[in-house]
Amino acid sequence: PAIDLPIHEAVLGHAAEFGDRPALVDGVEGTTLTYAQLDSFTRRIAAALAESGLRKGDVLALHSPNTIAYPAVFYGATRAGAAVTTVHPLATAEEFARQLRDSGASWIVTVSPLLETARKAAEQAGGVREILVCDSAEGHRSVLDLLGSTAPEPEIAFDPGEDVAALPYSSGTTGVPKGVMLTHRNIATNLAQLDPTLSMGPGHRILAVLPFFHIYGLTALMNAPLRKGATVVVLPRFDLEQFLKAVATHRVQGLFVAPPIVLALAKHPAVAAHDLSSLEYVLCSAAPLDAELAQACSKRLGLPPILQAYGMTELSPGTHVVPLDARDAPPGAVGKLLPGTEMRIVPLDEDAATEGGDGSGEIHIRGPQVMKGYLGRPEETAAMIDEDGWLHTGDVGRVDADGWLHVVDRVKELIKYKGYQVPPAELEAVLLTDPRVADAAVIGVLDGDGNEIPKAYVVPQQGASLTADDVMAHVAAQVAPYKKVRRVEFTDAIPRAASGKILRRELRARERGTA
Ligand code: ATP
Ligand code: MG
Repeated sequence: PAIDLPIHEAVLGHAAEFGDRPALVDGVEGTTLTYAQLDSFTRRIAAALAESGLRKGDVLALHSPNTIAYPAVFYGATRAGAAVTTVHPLATAEEFARQLRDSGASWIVTVSPLLETARKAAEQAGGVREILVCDSAEGHRSVLDLLGSTAPEPEIAFDPGEDVAALPYSSGTTGVPKGVMLTHRNIATNLAQLDPTLSMGPGHRILAVLPFFHIYGLTALMNAPLRKGATVVVLPRFDLEQFLKAVATHRVQGLFVAPPIVLALAKHPAVAAHDLSSLEYVLCSAAPLDAELAQACSKRLGLPPILQAYGMTELSPGTHVVPLDARDAPPGAVGKLLPGTEMRIVPLDEDAATEGGDGSGEIHIRGPQVMKGYLGRPEETAAMIDEDGWLHTGDVGRVDADGWLHVVDRVKELIKYKGYQVPPAELEAVLLTDPRVADAAVIGVLDGDGNEIPKAYVVPQQGASLTADDVMAHVAAQVAPYKKVRRVEFTDAIPRAASGKILRRELRARERGTA
């Protein structure tokens, strides 16, 4: 059942009813934006953008860390008919320019500390009509100025199934980030599909520390809670102290995080020093989460088991969620299939021996949340979505007897050791169970004979004494012999994408001596 609403209607359709309730709170400064303000700011911004010449179909690049103004600009732009391409606030001018060119953006909204980067990017890319800032900066029109606009609201005829509302870029974990065309229908329908699993009403407070620019943050931290009248406490970046303080100060009930934050919550001593008694649940997504780590974290916080969800940019993004009120999800489950969505598990056509046929295979998805396509990449779109409309996720999963999906790893990341398939995510999870290990990543490398073997990159816990043999012995004691870690390198940090995913390709480049 497709929902044909523009996304600002899907999200802010009830904003007026929520009136003076806080929609967004700055987690550090405490500044608040009410629902009535958010609604009226969105309309003013739309009117002013239209008055300035923004036309339906224009692409607006939103280049900002999480702020309470972010959603006002986002929905203001869509209300004026723009497609919003969200940009990593730490992107270099070159990366930003690439996204501007690739997306054909003609408008930029940034914040003054990032203005120089935005200017350089616009110069390199060409085609940008105006750069606005959200705060104030000399000589630049600010979004604050737009709020004073008396122009009439634009009357845009939306075609929700065709018109692109958002153009987020995939994380670039496996290659170059691709612009994903999500229509108003894609996003509005996925929000409706998510509704029964994300029960957040007025009075409910969640913490938004994962970036709004990534589809997970955009959906779970912005669209979904604002649609329900909940309050979003906003932080610009992850700093553990600031994060814990914000939970305590704002009596946050819900956390939507990625595995690195679960790791910090499970292992960092600072956690014990804060009052986290308001927390009711933690939901983790975007990358594989080990069941034991999850348990260590929830136990430490005195919470029910950590919930998970599964999705990808190309799926608007959700297909599976463990409902916030679920109490029966088995460890490791990423959720049950959302209504109106089809899934099939396709056995990997490898002659490699798998773990005795546990029914795992590539996850294929069909449904109203499947993207319109990659912008300007028809071949890659065709490689991703087959003629029957199935999107091939590239992820390996299996469904248990009770219908819960478990994600094993990405097809492309599986290490092929002597004909066996070894999921690196599983070994990373085992490594993290060692208290002497602060962080870890595993990739396949070639041994002297040209065979692929698992190699671990390990960040030792501060002050711990740990040798490569210790690491290998710890893993060997817990996995089948073919999965053993056979090489170890100690390192200071594991490279990760903003969404929390391990950038294994960077480790592979390091291995080849090209990084
Ligand atoms: P790119 O496609 O550019 O290489 P990416 O796939 O990392 O980057 P995203 O769309 O941000 O970009 O991430 C989607 C991927 O994240 C999924 O395909 C899956 O591999 C992973 N993922 C999401 N949720 C989970 C989860 N709960 N458990 C394991 N993996 C997950
Ligand atoms: Mg991907």
